[in-house]
Amino acid sequence: MKTQEIMQQLAAKHPGEAEYLQAVEEVLNSIEEVYNQHPEYEKAKIVERMVEPDRIYTFRVTWVDDKGEVQTNLGYRVQFNSAIGPYKGGLRFHKAVTPSMLKFLGFEQTFKNALTTLPMGGGKGGSDFDPVGKSDAEIMRFCQAFMLELWRCIGPDQDIPAGDVGVGGREIGFLNGMYQKLAQRYHTGVLTGKGMTWGGSILRPEATGFGALYFTQHVLELAGKDIKGKTVAISGFGNVAWGACTKAVELGAKVVAISGPDGVCAIPGGIDKEMIDYMLVMRSSNRNKVQDMADKFPGKCSFVAGKKAWSQKCDIALPCAFQNELSEDDAKELVKNGTWCCCEVSNMGCQPGAIHYFQAQKGFLFAPGKAVNAGGVATSGLEMTQNAEHISWTGQEVDERLHHIMASIHEQCVKFGKRADGTIDYVKGANIAGFMKVAQAMLEQGLV
Ligand code: GLU
Repeated sequence: MKTQEIMQQLAAKHPGEAEYLQAVEEVLNSIEEVYNQHPEYEKAKIVERMVEPDRIYTFRVTWVDDKGEVQTNLGYRVQFNSAIGPYKGGLRFHKAVTPSMLKFLGFEQTFKNALTTLPMGGGKGGSDFDPVGKSDAEIMRFCQAFMLELWRCIGPDQDIPAGDVGVGGREIGFLNGMYQKLAQRYHTGVLTGKGMTWGGSILRPEATGFGALYFTQHVLELAGKDIKGKTVAISGFGNVAWGACTKAVELGAKVVAISGPDGVCAIPGGIDKEMIDYMLVMRSSNRNKVQDMADKFPGKCSFVAGKKAWSQKCDIALPCAFQNELSEDDAKELVKNGTWCCCEVSNMGCQPGAIHYFQAQKGFLFAPGKAVNAGGVATSGLEMTQNAEHISWTGQEVDERLHHIMASIHEQCVKFGKRADGTIDYVKGANIAGFMKVAQAMLEQGLV
């Protein structure tokens, strides 16, 4: 297998699908050496089969806004790979959603889910529906219209969607309500991220952020460092950033910045509980403005328009918002200001140039999203288990399992990513560990 040849063929077949091609190239670069030691993979054309989704559903979603006007959006479900279990992955509602974005996310999800140790395949879906500025009633009508099509493609043993950017507990509620109505099946296991009284798992809302901080702790610990007292900059103020802030503060770190599409809030004294709670209000307002935090707590934080979190001095950078949100220039600015660790919490949060720059700095600790943020989908997997058994675990039980899973993901990264000098290439480690598991499962199950 030669990465460049495969990439050329893929680029010709899928012109303009930049995010998808970027995600595939990163994985192929990491696995090329290991792959070429396994002629049986080459013979079964594992890579050629693995880079294409099993199927993509595309559908029209028509709904009526509060003014009575008819709106039309596009909806998608990408069922990427089911070699190790049913398709599993979130739904993203964002105006920039395209098939390329969902293909990159589905591809990443396949490896991420393999890392969790749980039997889940990879999928992703969503819509170009823009939740910004929408009322709760509009969100509900859109979710119901979206589910009118999606319900045919999903099921508890087939494909289990969850949240992602723009889809949280409120949206999952509306989606689940409509699914039950249409399917006339009242099982709890067809979506994860549900409410606590209708099959949801304790800790699922926090899980991505909590898991990311547990992973960061492992990375630091192996490098002989402690997270206590360290300064952290975080992008975003959605569900993931909220969980990350909560756990960072609990572990004794100081979150000195959060950012949004409008700019950054510098918080010199560190974010506190009241401010973290306010992130939830900001998320559900659908305004998508981080300035609201500075307006609410003028004595504690100051807003700088047009700047990213990466303009702030910090030890650890945690991108928690969107793909490619941290560029090579941002990486340079961070390093210049003394940052020595970046754990991607968003999927593919760093541009390739940023990753290369970080990895070229001696002693810099970098870990990729598919390892760092896997606690979210892992806890979805735990929610599926509870649903299948019709039971509910305590918060402590879920947290212990999440801890265990994050430790195991870290171990896999170390096993496959150890460099000659003893440091860890977490990108390589995560990609090889995830790939080997999916590749072996595909090989053993034949050409299907
Ligand atoms: N959207 C999340 C992710 O990127 C969670 C997916 C899930 O829980 O199924 O992993």
